[in-house]
Amino acid sequence: MEPFWNDLLERLSRKLSTPGFKTFVSSAKLVSFADGILTIAVPTQFLLSWVKERCAPVLQDIFNNELQQSILIEYTVNADFNFGISAEEEAPRLAPAGAAASPYSSTFNPGYTFDTFVVGNNNRFAHAAAVAVSEKPAAAYNPLFTCGGSGLGKTHLMHAIAQRALALHPGLKIVYVKAEDFVNETIDIIRENRQDRWNAFRSKFRTVDILMIDDVQFFMGKDRCQEEFFNAFNALYEAKKQIILNSDRPPKDLKNVEERLISRLSWGLVTDIQPPDLETRIAILQKKIEGDAKPIPVEVLEYIARQIPSNVRDLEGALTRLVANAALTDAPLTIEFAAETLKHFFIVNQEKYITISTIKQVVAESFKLDIEELSAKVRTKDIALARQIAMFLSKEMTSSALAKIGSNFGGRDHTTVLHACDKIREMLKTDPSILDLVTNLKKEILAR
Ligand code: ADP
Ligand code: MG
Repeated sequence: MEPFWNDLLERLSRKLSTPGFKTFVSSAKLVSFADGILTIAVPTQFLLSWVKERCAPVLQDIFNNELQQSILIEYTVNADFNFGISAEEEAPRLAPAGAAASPYSSTFNPGYTFDTFVVGNNNRFAHAAAVAVSEKPAAAYNPLFTCGGSGLGKTHLMHAIAQRALALHPGLKIVYVKAEDFVNETIDIIRENRQDRWNAFRSKFRTVDILMIDDVQFFMGKDRCQEEFFNAFNALYEAKKQIILNSDRPPKDLKNVEERLISRLSWGLVTDIQPPDLETRIAILQKKIEGDAKPIPVEVLEYIARQIPSNVRDLEGALTRLVANAALTDAPLTIEFAAETLKHFFIVNQEKYITISTIKQVVAESFKLDIEELSAKVRTKDIALARQIAMFLSKEMTSSALAKIGSNFGGRDHTTVLHACDKIREMLKTDPSILDLVTNLKKEILAR
């Protein structure tokens, strides 16, 4: 299948612009080609429409005129899709030197390293733990358990750990597996009920130096898989091997998972990743376009970052689309151009238009204050803190100017708002309880 796909890419590269081709390669994957149906997977709905619009006609043309066959193109959207990883047959080609000798070592996405990971208040702790584990596997925290919502960088960090660990300790055997694949494989083996397959499966997971299992929430309700995993966990743990796990929720919130397993999952260190704040989102966008030929003005990046508050994957999708469209049309990269190009991306967010008054309401409720107290002259410590947090959130979550925010808080001027923002930002770095509080407030505001 691979030579066929490579040939197709080769042909495509001659027909698309370089940025357009780059986008295609990094966002489309061949699922199958049979009976005249070409099935392509893409990671997001947005890229789906991009591929359909820009590439499908070119592909059709290649088939009709160069390959002389008529085809149908079908698409699947697979959010967990990671380009260039976990394709076992590619292992010998992509595996780093030294690891290639092991039939069981996984390959890792070269784009997911610590160098390309932007550290912000939302992920500082998770990142620090990941670095520690990559430097001293099985010595720092075991298991390392990272949780957080979809598209916030959990898989990226896992791949980064693996690649740093391999660079520091060549020859380590590292197996990365999605819990879903683990589940499917167990089910398959149970169905076939062949002892030799069980043996191979078990030894694959029990003879590694680092075992990474992504999205362990997939183990929920799968008793037999949990048992297999439990046994592998015990064997590795006793042999002092590193276990690294990710999930969309903390261990204690995993439903229908055996108690004894949940307790083991929390034996080491549990960290979490929160949605990034505005500054971090802008920094992530800047990182993604580093080295690109055509720079994007920072106000355009900020515009995108404001529209997409809670998912880095979507943020990246928007950027990719913008870059591709800009390259294809040679238009100047203005906010207007971004707004037009990305209007389909933003629909969801526009519906969630956040107002200062919602923010005041949520903050007042949480501090058990009347809304008016946030605007009043009173300065008890509690009220002052609540007010500063509300101002900070207004700056973060709406596109209001400082002066406008000030006027919503009893006619205070913009320097007061600026001061409040600086102060809260500082506290977020040093005081975990404030970080917790602000994170929960954000969630609540978004849910209103
Ligand atoms: P998750 O596994 O939590 O669903 P991923 O690790 O797949 O999320 O991340 C989704 C996308 O967002 C990836 O392309 C990843 O590189 C990017 N991403 C997430 N967080 C960051 C970050 N802090 N810095 C740079 N890129 C990030
Ligand atoms: Mg993931």
